Amino acid sequence: MNIATISTSRVFSSLLLISALGLLTGQILASQAQIIAAEERRFRSFQIAEALRRSSDELTRMARSYVITGDNQFIQRYLAIMDLRRRGDLGLNIDDYASWDLTRPPPRADQLRPSSSDWRQQMRRAGFAERELSLLQTAWQRSSELAELEQRAFAQVEAYLGDVSPAARAARENAINQLHDLNYHAEKARIMAPIAEFLQAVDKRTSAELSELQRTQRLFLQVQIVLALGLFLGVLLFTFYVRRKVLLPLRQLMQHAQALSRGDYSSRTEVASHNELALLGRTFNQMAEAIERDVAARRQLQQELETLACTDFLTQLSNRRHFIDLASAALARSRRNGLALAVCMLDVDHFKAINDQFGHAAGDLVLQHLAAVIQHTLREVDLCGRIGGEEFALLLPETAADEALRASERLRTSVANSPVSFEDGRRVHYSISIGVAVSPDGSLGLDRLLNQADAALYQAKAGGRNRVKLYEPPAVT
Ligand code: GH3
Ligand code: MG
Ligand code: MG
Repeated sequence: MNIATISTSRVFSSLLLISALGLLTGQILASQAQIIAAEERRFRSFQIAEALRRSSDELTRMARSYVITGDNQFIQRYLAIMDLRRRGDLGLNIDDYASWDLTRPPPRADQLRPSSSDWRQQMRRAGFAERELSLLQTAWQRSSELAELEQRAFAQVEAYLGDVSPAARAARENAINQLHDLNYHAEKARIMAPIAEFLQAVDKRTSAELSELQRTQRLFLQVQIVLALGLFLGVLLFTFYVRRKVLLPLRQLMQHAQALSRGDYSSRTEVASHNELALLGRTFNQMAEAIERDVAARRQLQQELETLACTDFLTQLSNRRHFIDLASAALARSRRNGLALAVCMLDVDHFKAINDQFGHAAGDLVLQHLAAVIQHTLREVDLCGRIGGEEFALLLPETAADEALRASERLRTSVANSPVSFEDGRRVHYSISIGVAVSPDGSLGLDRLLNQADAALYQAKAGGRNRVKLYEPPAVT
């Protein structure tokens, strides 16, 4: 499979996993908010129950204080609490009422928080159930019934205000009894019963909701962990894949390209798979092969050109320029080592006549024949070049005069004893003359040696040809 397809599918599946993780996180946060709301509702139910209990107790305290003392401030306080409850606050705002501190004046209406017109609706919004609300409603109704009982007691006291007659005292005692007797306590207990039930109901429902929410949360968390692990594993695998299938082949390709740029044209990259990089690798290898072929062809061409530039086309010996180069290097070696060295100049005798008699092509064959004889006669280390039409030069390293003369003589004899046969059956005997110059310690220059050999050759010609002549310096007179 190619890299682009795999990368796209991996990125796509990772995005899907990340979205799923995001959704789950949202769900967990939402259920967390629900948990907080449930806890708040439970706390609120305690507050409500406590406020109702406290206001009820306070009403009892005020009512009793009033019937005992007949003091008007108690009745005012009683009415203020009743007013609060009527306003529908269910006593929730009663904390504003300064902890029922009687030494403080009662709050003015504008000091109270705005009361709710419909406490039921408020509590529904806070998450309370209808059954829970009706329990509160029952408590509310029962407390109103108790309030009626208390107000009947107040009426008995009020009828005898300022009166100290026995009838007045009896009426007050009766009223006091009404607010302390068993019936009164039973009525109060009746108010508290639905409140306790309300607390229980809220607590039970909250606990059930909480355990359900926590279970869902745990489930989401587990799924989240699995998804996160999957994502991590996917990313890990993808990283591994990218390293193996992209980075390593790229690095390898780069190394081969560098090798190629350094001139290692045999460098090839490994192509193991079938993706885009493998295609790139194959293309690289084809390119390297083409370059290698091209370079090899150029090298061969260059070599051929060099050979052509150094070689005499007719005899395949070194041409004049190449012979001079090789001879100069050999001379330098001899000079460094202080060794003797000989240079010979060689010319075909009466060559013009051969040309004239047998033709120019036959003359060429004679020259090729002579080249073959020279190469056959000389040592490996000796140098030979065609430096003119039918003139050749030899360089014999580490060769003193007598050895040079012997070698030249051997060559001359060989030529003299091996006639050339032409295709038409005719044969020609030909000879050569050789002039030899020697530098005993390699100190003489090449030009000088060539001139000396040339002079010796001239003498050989003058002496009758077909002979070898060692250069002798002219006698000083
Ligand atoms: P000598 O003994 O004095 O050397 O007499 P020679 O006839 O050899 O005289 P010379 O050296 O002056 O003559 C050289 C002749 O070689 C002249 C030329 O036509 C001939 N020649 C030069 N180059 C070639 C060649 O490549 N092929 C042939 N066939 N002849 C050549
Ligand atoms: Mg000549
Ligand atoms: Mg000649």
